[in-house]
Order: sequence, then C-alpha cells, then structure tokens
Amino acid sequence: MNILLSVLTMSERLWAPWRYDYVSSHNEEGDGCIFCRIAESESSKNRENLVLYRGIYAYAILNGFPYINGHLMVIPYRHVADLASLKKEEIAEMMDLLVRAEKALKEGMNCQGLNGGWNIGTAGGAGIPGHLHMHLLPRWNGDTNFMSTVGAIRVVSQSLESSYKILVEYFGGSIG
Ligand SMILES: [Zn+2]
Repeated sequence: MNILLSVLTMSERLWAPWRYDYVSSHNEEGDGCIFCRIAESESSKNRENLVLYRGIYAYAILNGFPYINGHLMVIPYRHVADLASLKKEEIAEMMDLLVRAEKALKEGMNCQGLNGGWNIGTAGGAGIPGHLHMHLLPRWNGDTNFMSTVGAIRVVSQSLESSYKILVEYFGGSIG
C-alpha cells in the first residue's frame, strides 16, 4: 500500500495502531491540504466527509481509511504542524473533543479500551505532516486477530457508514 505499512512491525501495528496514518491519494502539494478542505466545507457535507462534530476551533472525523471500525481523528481547523503552534483555546477544545470521542466509542460501540496518538512530522509517520491530527481507536478484547490480518488494507464502506451513524449520535451529547 505504501512504504509506511511495510516498515511497521507487527508489534507496532498492534500496540501503536495510530501509526497507520491517514492514507489518501491527496497530497499537500498537488491538491491542497485535505484537512483544510474538510475544515472549510459546509456542514451539509458533514456526512459525506465523515465529519462527526464541528467545534469552534477543531473538528472530529471518522477516518475514511480506518485501521479498525470507529477509528477517528481530532483535527484543529487551522493548518498547523505541531502542538506548540496550537493556541490555548484550540488545545482545550481538542481535549474536549477527545473526551466526547472516548464517550462515543465506549457507549456507542461498546469498546473495552482505546489507543490514541499523534504522528508529528514525516519522521513521526504523519501522512499529512503539515496539518496536525490526533488518532483515536477503539479496542476490544481479542481484536488483535482482526487487526493483524485485516489491518488498514480492507475498507468496508458499509462498516464506515454504520460506524458514522452510531458515533454521530453520541458525539453531540453533553459531557462532564
Ligand atoms: Zn491543512
């Protein structure tokens, strides 16, 4: 699929699954930044773009190239490459979205654990290094068979659609 997949060891795939970064035919040079384009698109396109929730400074989106059902990302609207470039209000809202995401994945998909992580910079494995994005993945006891055999290769559109429907319902609820 790409070089990133081939250099990852099985251990990394199981315990640091967010290392499978956003895989896309788009690239920042040719088509502009896909995360900026989604940030700027209308709310009426949320479903088409798999946007689960739009905050003031950041949004949450289902990964269109999931490592596992429910694999989502939290992304600031601004095109910034690292954590130090974030403003306090952006940090606060991204954390808020992660709390919502945790709740949505636990309550909506009954996950038993979670993995989350940042890939910062190309050396860190970021597929789109110019625009920071955090991955959050639900985990279930015994899901390692699924993850090691299916990995990021198979994308079942029906699963994406049903995951979206479930999670979008849980995202907007109150937290805290
Ligand atoms: Zn961007």
